Amino acid sequence: MTTILKAKYLIPNPDNCIENGAVAVKGAKIYHVGTFDEIKTLADIDKIIDLGNAVILPGLINIHTHLDLTNLHNRIKPTSNFTHWVFQILGARIRWKEEDYMSSIEKGIKLCVESGTTTVADIANTGYSFSVLKKSPLRKVVYKEVIDLNPDHAKDVLKKTQSELSTIIPDDLLSIGLSPHAPYSVSRELYQAIAQFAVETDTPVCTHIAETRDEIEFLAKGTGSLPAFLKQIRAMPDNWQPPGLTPIQYLNETGILGNRPLLIHCNYVTDEEISLIKSSGASVAFCPMSHRFFGHTNHPVQKLLDAGINVGLGTDSLASNDTLSILDEMKYLSLNNSIPPNILLTMATINGAKTLGLESKVGQIKAGFEADLCGVRLSDTHTENIYRQLLDTASKNIFTMVAGNICYQAQSG
Ligand SMILES: [Zn+2]
Repeated sequence: MTTILKAKYLIPNPDNCIENGAVAVKGAKIYHVGTFDEIKTLADIDKIIDLGNAVILPGLINIHTHLDLTNLHNRIKPTSNFTHWVFQILGARIRWKEEDYMSSIEKGIKLCVESGTTTVADIANTGYSFSVLKKSPLRKVVYKEVIDLNPDHAKDVLKKTQSELSTIIPDDLLSIGLSPHAPYSVSRELYQAIAQFAVETDTPVCTHIAETRDEIEFLAKGTGSLPAFLKQIRAMPDNWQPPGLTPIQYLNETGILGNRPLLIHCNYVTDEEISLIKSSGASVAFCPMSHRFFGHTNHPVQKLLDAGINVGLGTDSLASNDTLSILDEMKYLSLNNSIPPNILLTMATINGAKTLGLESKVGQIKAGFEADLCGVRLSDTHTENIYRQLLDTASKNIFTMVAGNICYQAQSG
């Protein structure tokens, strides 16, 4: 069974564009890539899908989201006060039942698939994320969230987490990770225990880090808005002492930086911390529109890229964004940042794949790779520049395929 997907353009990787391009898909894999004239001579072609005035891209990779917050869209007010935002979330979810979590995750999956995302890195606050995502057509790394600032609980929390994870069966499309939430919600002892467990079991790790100035003050001096917030939710241990370190220094000290973790946000990092990230081999998730939602300015993304750090794109959740579309994030950056469009596409594909350890399988349209593809209908702008057409506000994803399975195809017209 060979299916041919063709379009006006095909970008197999950000350095290349094939006019009148096509890709042959056999089973779950990419079989051949080239011009349609070359591809149409292949034997055993069962089906040809013509996307017309569109560009076929490697499926987009969203390296940070919380799909279980999708139903909170438009219910959380933009704020630069992080603890106020957390209180809004806690308040909005106070009466949530199983079906609310499930429908939220399902809605999030649908939005991802429709916008050309083929792989997500999702944070699982509950077990529902695993069960719902496992049934979805997406490729995914689901990170079990771990939260506990009390050092006395570290061993028990890890044990409980291990037993929860042991009930989840990974498969071709599902990998399991661990997400110690953040340095103001996870004790040093718990970070250490997770670091060791993750090395022994080859489990991917991610953590929210250097997200707010409050977090930096909390780690440096134990002051700012976080202690009062943590006391209010009864999460502040009596004997807690600030480490007197910057966020990345702290991760380094706990050992978790040695796991080459996915570092979520890195909104406020010093040059010294950037060097530490670089030498650790960790990746960074940049969530541009969520960054704007919280009123942060000047993300150090260019410095991180210049340092040779692997930076991918995330949407974060609809509790701090209006979209789960990585194409929308690229469009936003193309208007508000000077990163060249081919680098934006690299971040959304190859870098995302590297972050999740999937770079030999996805992120490019290449023979032997998984058939994870999307097709973006181009706007009728009067330009020959393919990237300008791709990142024009009117372009739209119309086709999504994961492992050879067509997950979404827009009605024509
Ligand atoms: Zn997050």
